[in-house]
Amino acid sequence: MAPEFTSRISGFYKKPVEERISVIAEMVGLSDEEVSTLKSRGGLSLEAADHMTENVVGTIAYPFSVAVNFRVNGRDYLVPMAGEEPSVVAAASNMARLMRDGEGIKATYTDPIMIGQIQVLDIPDMKAAVKAIKRNKKTLLDSANELDPVLVKFGGGAKDLELRPIETEIGPMLIVHVLVDCRDAMGANAVNTMAEALAPTIAELTGGRTLLRIISNLADRRLVTVEGVVKKNEIGGEKAVDNIVAAWAFADADPYRAATHNKGIMNGVAAVALALAQDHRAIEAGAHAYAVKDGRYKSMSRWSKNRDGDLVGIMTLPMAVGLVGGATRSHPMAQIARKILNVDKASELGEIMCAVGLAQNLGALRALTQEGIQQGHMRLHARNLVVMAGATGDQVERAVKELVDGGEIRFPKAQEIVRRIKGSA
Ligand code: NAD
Repeated sequence: MAPEFTSRISGFYKKPVEERISVIAEMVGLSDEEVSTLKSRGGLSLEAADHMTENVVGTIAYPFSVAVNFRVNGRDYLVPMAGEEPSVVAAASNMARLMRDGEGIKATYTDPIMIGQIQVLDIPDMKAAVKAIKRNKKTLLDSANELDPVLVKFGGGAKDLELRPIETEIGPMLIVHVLVDCRDAMGANAVNTMAEALAPTIAELTGGRTLLRIISNLADRRLVTVEGVVKKNEIGGEKAVDNIVAAWAFADADPYRAATHNKGIMNGVAAVALALAQDHRAIEAGAHAYAVKDGRYKSMSRWSKNRDGDLVGIMTLPMAVGLVGGATRSHPMAQIARKILNVDKASELGEIMCAVGLAQNLGALRALTQEGIQQGHMRLHARNLVVMAGATGDQVERAVKELVDGGEIRFPKAQEIVRRIKGSA
């Protein structure tokens, strides 16, 4: 019988890889074939890779991890994360534990509306052009929806048009926004197809010339909001809470700091995105563009202290994610990641990705305001160095300890230590 599902797996990080795989396999019911894909260092055959992109000559594997302790809207999640950067998965898991109380991280989402843009130039009469499109809105939306009956069947499709006359360096233009509900698809192909198909009619109605017809990655109609609370005693007391709020205020006021602060958030978001074969560039572009929505680049998150003196984090991010389309179905590792995460809806995936971003942000703020980021990082850096220097098995921990204790965490030193340990073995 499968064990009762929980994301609170104590000491998961201490278990050997084989044992971790068994725990996850048992918990979520992975088949033998899925377990061997997990162990296959990437899960993607050359043939499958060759169908995915062009000029393929190989594949590249990243560590694929599972973050534990996440609870979102009262449900536990084991969260797959992929990436090369040390500390990310550990920080996410630790901070998720601090935000597990009660329902855990609260998350909400809007309808999954993406925007397709049609650029119209050389319009003889802007007012008349706007009027003509408004008059024909229903016909335009109907013809867009005829292109994607599957999307419409699931409750999605083109829902509205917005008209945005803009001034540019080369004169006025009309930008037509097609608002498309993409349901469980990321939607770029669906939206681009609709934008391209509507363009000739829009050119005719406006007397202008259409040029670009493409999705906008500023997905500001497809938002997820998360909120997490950490009891002050869990994070080092009231002073520690104040320091985290002060660190956040710095990021919110100063773009130089905000870029790094937000990069930390995206460490979490992008790692989940990569594990589930999402378009992480689209998500990154949307998140950073949304962070400038008030006219200045700011923190994506907001941290404050509540009446009890506890720490509250809130974040709203655009979440253009999908569970159908793109590589989500064709990448075997993404399929396993989805099974581990156990989500049915793209909106739910968006909620978890945003929750991981918030946890990641808290991890960075805590480390920066307490011990400083390097202490944790240097140990992991030391591990990379000794592995690069050829340490294997038990030698790794021994060499890391010597390297860290010696205080000179550099590759030649790692080589020297590893050579000595190997020599004495
Ligand atoms: P897609 O076209 O492969 O799949 C979406 C289609 O799946 C829908 O149009 C619908 O017909 C069908 N579908 C079936 N079940 C559905 C459900 N439950 N909900 C919604 N649709 C359902 O993929 P896509 O999501 O339109 O496009 C994503 C791909 O486009 C990604 O690979 C992305 O990298 C790429 N892309 C991105 C950009 C960009 O972001 N700027 C530009 C071009 C392409």
